[in-house]
Amino acid sequence: RSGRSAALRARMEERLLGARFRYLNQQLYTGSSRDAARLFRADPAAFHLYHRGFEQQVRRWPERPVQRIVRYLRRRPASLVVADFGCGDCTLAASVRNQVHCFDLVPLSPRVTVCDMAKVPLAAESVDVAVFCLALMGTNLQEILGEANRVLRLGGTLMVAEVASRFEDTHAFLKAMTQLGFRTVSKDLSSSYFYLLEFAKTGPARPGPAPGLRLRPCLYKRR
Ligand code: SAH
Repeated sequence: RSGRSAALRARMEERLLGARFRYLNQQLYTGSSRDAARLFRADPAAFHLYHRGFEQQVRRWPERPVQRIVRYLRRRPASLVVADFGCGDCTLAASVRNQVHCFDLVPLSPRVTVCDMAKVPLAAESVDVAVFCLALMGTNLQEILGEANRVLRLGGTLMVAEVASRFEDTHAFLKAMTQLGFRTVSKDLSSSYFYLLEFAKTGPARPGPAPGLRLRPCLYKRR
């Protein structure tokens, strides 16, 4: 009997966590990066809950996008300086020899510099590779990618791995990226889970609206 009620309670807790995760996730995708920073500063426990939910989601995928970025970096010189925007548990930094600046809202690892990714404490043109791995969450995409442009040196690489279903119009998105000072180097749209996009910085971001720069929020279904 007690075994059954423990199992029932575990199941209820699991569902409650799932519901809180989906709610937090929705807040992150429908507000600005500043709202996200405020949310987690006010409630660090929410952040840990979010990360547990995130882990559960990506574990269902055949491949973790961050592993693709790891493989990419291992093919390139270890001397390249990397900035990981929305680094999570710092899997990337832990898997390559490069110097990696890790940015996130709350430190899951001592390597993390806590900040809003729209304003990172790096000098202009100081990094060779900027990474957003499932991290383009805020609605102020232009500002966030503008920050990546600022810290990247000319010719530097921007890697974006993002949930495939978030792209409404990939062509328009890539076109908007040219306005932000990024040329598409390669795009792998073959996975039904996530797209992997590689850009090179061609110059500073041009101001003005970039209407094609839109991603749908990534909302998870109840399971
Ligand atoms: N890149 C990691 C984690 C992806 S989850 C991986 O692939 O495993 C997305 C991460 O972005 C979360 O850790 C979340 O806290 C972070 N994030 C979301 N908004 C952010 C913001 N405004 N500033 C910094 N990090 C942010």
